[in-house]
Amino acid sequence: MSATVIQGKAFAARLRDRIGDHAHAFEAKTGRKAGLAVVLVGQDPASQVYVRSKAKATVEAGMGSFEFELPADTSEATLLARVAELNANPDVDGILVQLPLPNGLDELKVISAIDPDKDVDGFHVINAGRLCVGQKGFVPCTPLGCLMLLKDLLGDLSGKEAVVIGRSNIVGRPMAQLLVDADTTVTIAHSKTRNLPDVVRRGDIVIAAVGQPEMVRGSWIKPGATVLDVGINRVEAEDGKTRLVGDVAFDEAREVAGAITPVPGGVGPMTIAVLLRNTIVSAYRREGLELAKDAL
Ligand code: NDP
Repeated sequence: MSATVIQGKAFAARLRDRIGDHAHAFEAKTGRKAGLAVVLVGQDPASQVYVRSKAKATVEAGMGSFEFELPADTSEATLLARVAELNANPDVDGILVQLPLPNGLDELKVISAIDPDKDVDGFHVINAGRLCVGQKGFVPCTPLGCLMLLKDLLGDLSGKEAVVIGRSNIVGRPMAQLLVDADTTVTIAHSKTRNLPDVVRRGDIVIAAVGQPEMVRGSWIKPGATVLDVGINRVEAEDGKTRLVGDVAFDEAREVAGAITPVPGGVGPMTIAVLLRNTIVSAYRREGLELAKDAL
C-alpha cells in the first residue's frame, strides 16, 4: 500500500498564517514590527535564492526585513562590525548570516559573534548547549520543522525507535536531541556506520539528512515507518535539465513506509516557516511579552 505523502508545504503555510497573526498582535502591542536581519556575503546563486525567499516570507508574515548583501571580498572585521551593529539594533529580533561564507571568513567566529538571544538559526554554541541541557534557547529550523511534522502526524512519539542518518550540527545532531527529548529511542547513523540498511530498518521514524541523492532504498525501510527526507540534491534529469531529489528513493520507499515527505514540498518549506517562528518567539521574549506555550 502506498504511504501517506506528508504535505509539508501546506503545513508550513498554515504555520506562517499563525505567525502572521502573532506578528500583527506584536506590532499592535509594541508599536513596532518584529524584525529579522539576513546577511549574505558573496554571490552564491543558491544562497541568493534562499536569502531573497527568506526576506519575502518575512515581509509576507508582517515582520520587518533587514537585508544586507556584502561583496565576496568583505573582510572578517567588516562582517563582525555588521553583526555587532545588528546585535545592538533594538528593532532586530533575529539575525541570520547565510552559510556557507566565502573562503577566508571563519564561520564559527562569525556565528559566535551573534547575540545568542537573536540567533534564530540556533547555530550559536550557546544555543546548541541550551538544547543539550534542556534550557530555553533557539533550535535549528530544519530539525525543529521535522519534529513539528512528526508530532502533527503521530502525536505522542514516546517509545518509538528513531534513526537519524547524518550528524551535522545543523540537522542530524539537533534532530537527534529533539527526538530524545520527545522520548524516542534514537540511533544516529553516519558515514562510518556498519550495515546501514539494517540500522535504518530498526526505525519507526527515519530522518535522512545525508546529502546523497536517493541513497536510502525502499528495502531499508521498516513497513509502516514514517520517513522524513531532509536531503536536497540537484541531479540531471532525462530531458537534460536538472531536478531536485531527496536522500530517499521516494518511489520505492513510499511502497513500504506508512508516511513520507516528498522532495520538494516536504521538509524544505518548514525551514523558512520555523525561521519566522523563531523570530516572532524572539521578539516576544525580548519585549517580555507572553506567547502562549503551544501557540506556534
Ligand atoms: P552535511 O554534509 O553537513 O552532513 C551529512 C551527514 O551525512 C554527515 O554526518 C555524514 O557522515 C553523513 N553521510 C554522508 N554520506 C553518508 C553515507 N554514505 N552513509 C551514511 N551517512 C553519510 O550535510 P547537512 O546535514 O548540512 O545536510 C544534509 C542534507 O540536507 C543535504 O542534502 C542538504 O542540502 C539538506 N538540507 C536541507 C535543508 C532543508 O531546508 N530541507 C536544510 C539543511 C540541509 P560523517 O559525519 O561521517 O561525514
